[in-house]
Amino acid sequence: MEKKSYCVIGHPIGHTMSPFIHKRLFDISGLSADYTAMDIAPESLDLTSNGLAGLDGFNVTIPHKQAVIPLIDRLDNSALTCGAVNVVSLGKESVGYNTDGDGFIGAIDRAGMRLGGRTLICGAGGAARAVALSAAAAGGSLTIAVRDGGQEKAKKLCEQIKGTFPKAQIEITTFEKIDGKYDLAVNATPVGMYPNVGKSVLSEEQIDRCDAIYDLVYNPEETEFIKIGRRLGKKCDSGMSMLVLQAAKAHEIWYGASFEKKQIDHIIADAKAELRRIF
Ligand code: NAP
Repeated sequence: MEKKSYCVIGHPIGHTMSPFIHKRLFDISGLSADYTAMDIAPESLDLTSNGLAGLDGFNVTIPHKQAVIPLIDRLDNSALTCGAVNVVSLGKESVGYNTDGDGFIGAIDRAGMRLGGRTLICGAGGAARAVALSAAAAGGSLTIAVRDGGQEKAKKLCEQIKGTFPKAQIEITTFEKIDGKYDLAVNATPVGMYPNVGKSVLSEEQIDRCDAIYDLVYNPEETEFIKIGRRLGKKCDSGMSMLVLQAAKAHEIWYGASFEKKQIDHIIADAKAELRRIF
């Protein structure tokens, strides 16, 4: 069987975990495939001169998730609702998808957390949008917390969610003004991410009012947010599970793969070990 070729594009691409995770997924599937990381500067993004058109598919990361849209023939609903693409399949036509929502829902389910209750989402960027759409689809109420000055961005996100889920209950607040209790708090900001470790997006007192916490940040494996949550006896998990699950969804899209929970669990554990080895 002919060897397939895939890659991830981003800028800078640095220590991306994508080749490690995708190679493991190809190994498990028994598909002979190359997976590389390609650093493409924003001004050089196109499908032809970079050799992307000759591939079977590719992943897209920062800063190309929106810029790639006009270069693609068709968008799947997942990309249309998110307004961003992180997976492209190439064949007779190029199709853009967004698997962050599937990855997030899978990660929350795997951690035994509840998505349809009161959800507090920290941040209003691209990842927060995938999280908010998933939480709105599950029902319940959403609170989007931003830093002072970020309210306009949060309002736009709120309008987008309401465009897809008109009955969604959403409120916007700033981090200082968060009150009440939550079933789930999600960090969708880079706060606590390597190299700026040691900071938590929520205070200890705010975390104590949440039953479960999920941090999209996966480097370090245990952020300050997670450390405080664990100390308080909360259900906690970090972003590596979402990263692996959104990658697994790409394989389902590219060639119809499916994975057992045990296989995904192994890749998550191995990816965490690889991260510890690199950093
Ligand atoms: P983004 O589009 O740049 O959005 C970042 C959000 O965080 C914005 O709302 C931004 O607010 C806010 N923010 C940034 N710095 C902050 C600070 N110091 N204090 C409070 N809020 C701050 O980024 P993104 O793509 O959504 O990614 C967010 C995080 O999720 C990153 O750490 C990324 O690595 C992670 N992520 C993980 C996965 C996974 O699979 N685990 C997937 C996607 C993303 P302003 O507008 O005020 O700057």
